[in-house]
Amino acid sequence: MEQILNYIGGKLCAPTTGSFMNNINPATGAAYSQVADSDAADVAQAVIAAKGSFQAWSKMSLQNRAAVLMKIADLIDRDSDQLALAESIDQGKPVKLAKAVDIPRASANMRFFATASMHFASDSHLMEGEAINYTTRTPVGVVGCISPWNLPLYLFTWKIAPALAAGCSVVAKPSELTPMTAFLFSKLCIEAGLPDGVLNIVHGLGNKVGQAIIEHPEITAISFTGGTVTGKTIAATAAPMFKKLSLELGGKNPNIVFADCDFEKAVSTSIQSSFSNQGEICLCGSRILVERSLYDKFVSEFVNRTRELLVGDPLEEKTRVGALVSESHMNKVLGYIELAKQEGGKILCGGSRVKIEGRCEQGYFVAPTVIVGLDQNCRTNQEEIFGPVVTIMPFDSEEEAIGYANSNAYGLSATVWTENLTRAHRVAHQIKSGIIWVNCWLLRDLRTPFGGMKQSGVGREGGWEALRFFTEAKNVCIKL
Ligand code: NAD
Repeated sequence: MEQILNYIGGKLCAPTTGSFMNNINPATGAAYSQVADSDAADVAQAVIAAKGSFQAWSKMSLQNRAAVLMKIADLIDRDSDQLALAESIDQGKPVKLAKAVDIPRASANMRFFATASMHFASDSHLMEGEAINYTTRTPVGVVGCISPWNLPLYLFTWKIAPALAAGCSVVAKPSELTPMTAFLFSKLCIEAGLPDGVLNIVHGLGNKVGQAIIEHPEITAISFTGGTVTGKTIAATAAPMFKKLSLELGGKNPNIVFADCDFEKAVSTSIQSSFSNQGEICLCGSRILVERSLYDKFVSEFVNRTRELLVGDPLEEKTRVGALVSESHMNKVLGYIELAKQEGGKILCGGSRVKIEGRCEQGYFVAPTVIVGLDQNCRTNQEEIFGPVVTIMPFDSEEEAIGYANSNAYGLSATVWTENLTRAHRVAHQIKSGIIWVNCWLLRDLRTPFGGMKQSGVGREGGWEALRFFTEAKNVCIKL
């Protein structure tokens, strides 16, 4: 069986203990490769390699650094079919989605930050008649980047690209559930001529490898994307060490549909924002709030279209909903559906595991599920489920919709459907989320700051924010 190796000091290598774990294909339930089960010793080696490369990498001209990153982007595009297939097998997502979204966005991340770093300017401030201040920004050093399983290569590159472009050396850990594309990526880095030790990828479990990255005293900044509970543990460890921290965490995002919306666009995009990637996108709109006068019509059309979504083998082009990432995650999602029933919810469609004939017989498939009749404050409406499960609730006024939208510990994203321009601005302004989409979903301009409010995260990534995060500012004040 293929072994997924670490990438340390420019070499692909087995973990020091020699241990590997099975890597499961969630669509079949069978192990199809083995991933390094690394520990703190491997992280320590990665930090030594990263430190060794830092001087040369941080001093390399911006053009030369950018050229290597652009080369990696070109190689991702060259191998996009292979990467999309690997991502689909690792995570269970339809291969069509991996081809259309994950892989193109991964190379876009590399290109965006490679070129952005060449336009990154410093500030200067004149105190009239007194002094001139100028601010320099230098790379922070060796940084840790930890990513989740839901958009494996896209989120991995989202973390490491700005770090590398800013001149940092990186110790990175992809999710142990979806390590294959990061492994293929490490081969592309070697082919592109990325200097040894600039990027180190250590595979393994969160509580071993991830924790060792967070605790390592020579890793000065941590960029993490994952669950809110893990984020709390990371913050508790890193804060007393005064590390820079960027945390992109969970969401329970409202999708607010006003009666004056463009109905067709609202329904069709809401189907996507509910069930794309089996609902395993942090930005999915899992709480649909519909103005009462449109409620019955919306629910009926939404449920009809949900029933039409084809759940099936992720490798088939016609599949719209693939497998959940793991058996335990599937059981968690099914557990939430049971909870919704106990809380008085009515399941309008879905609600159970789906058995697929043939090679995917043992896969972890759950039917897209629509639940109504729940109170805003129940656990089903408050906790992140992260699966193909949405609730729909009616509201009677704009104020009530905003209240429902904000009545949650999370604040990652929100969507508003209305043709009333003034209302769109007014509502967007009052929702406490890092990004608000009006009449669209998942559009991303990489120049804009990205990140959650409340328990959805700390710090902003994207654009200059990400490059700033991986640098340290110093001000020089010159008396005139
Ligand atoms: P997770 O928190 O379980 O794991 C994320 C990563 O952290 C993995 O690589 C894991 O191995 C590692 N990890 C686990 N424990 C650790 C520890 N103690 N120290 C250091 N690292 C540790 O999250 P997940 O289940 O992989 O991903 C799903 C979650 O990610 C959802 O909550 C989702 O909303 C969130 N997410 C957020 C965003 C965003 O941009 N805000 C994007 C995607 C996913």
